[in-house]
Amino acid sequence: MSLPVIGITGWTDRSARPPNIPLFSVSQTYVQAVMMGRGAPMIIPPNLEEAELRAIFESLDGLLLSGGGDILPALYGEEDSGLLWVVDEQRDRAELALARWALTEGLSLLAICRGIQVLNVAAGGTLIQDIPTQVPNSLTHSSVAGRPRDSIAHTVDVIRDTQLATLVGAGQLDVNSFHHQAVKDVGTGLVVTARAPDGIIEGLESPDHPFCIGVQWHPEAMVESYPVMRRLFDGLAEASQAQTG
Ligand code: MN
Repeated sequence: MSLPVIGITGWTDRSARPPNIPLFSVSQTYVQAVMMGRGAPMIIPPNLEEAELRAIFESLDGLLLSGGGDILPALYGEEDSGLLWVVDEQRDRAELALARWALTEGLSLLAICRGIQVLNVAAGGTLIQDIPTQVPNSLTHSSVAGRPRDSIAHTVDVIRDTQLATLVGAGQLDVNSFHHQAVKDVGTGLVVTARAPDGIIEGLESPDHPFCIGVQWHPEAMVESYPVMRRLFDGLAEASQAQTG
């Protein structure tokens, strides 16, 4: 039995380093976590047109939407608040297309950090553009630079009788946190599966879909020290395996 092929969305790397060769990037932790779950990772470039994206989509058994910068607010019908970080409209449009296809065609999908935001916008939802300035009394969700990627920032309450709870258990779960945006209005067909103590949405899923899970934290950075997080990648690979020809 061959391993399921899991696409991981890459991004345009704007960190200029000599000799300034243009780069696409993916954090190695996504690749390693997918392999740990017994999936075969395949990196998807962010600059593809629809025909190329569609060809890749049709070759996938599963999809991981990775973290990154902010989605262009016009794509969810809002004005730019002036508080955005690293907007890449080309990546937005590519990932929104992939997310819509995965939603409507039942491809296994794990959406991480920016990914849960892409999933929500793909389903017609909206985003809080900047938690610290727009949500009174919010927790610190944007951990300071240099903090270990697996450091616990806050808890989330995982709601029972959800796909997420089946994987990681219902109730309190410790998570890391590297986001200044969050889901605001939930998109059509999605339900909330986890919230932080300040009410910020930290999990979404589509109950009508075989495996469509979004998390606002970064489980791929926690799999070494918090084995419970491996279950998300085990689950993605298992659901994707069911889709291999
Ligand atoms: Mn958070």
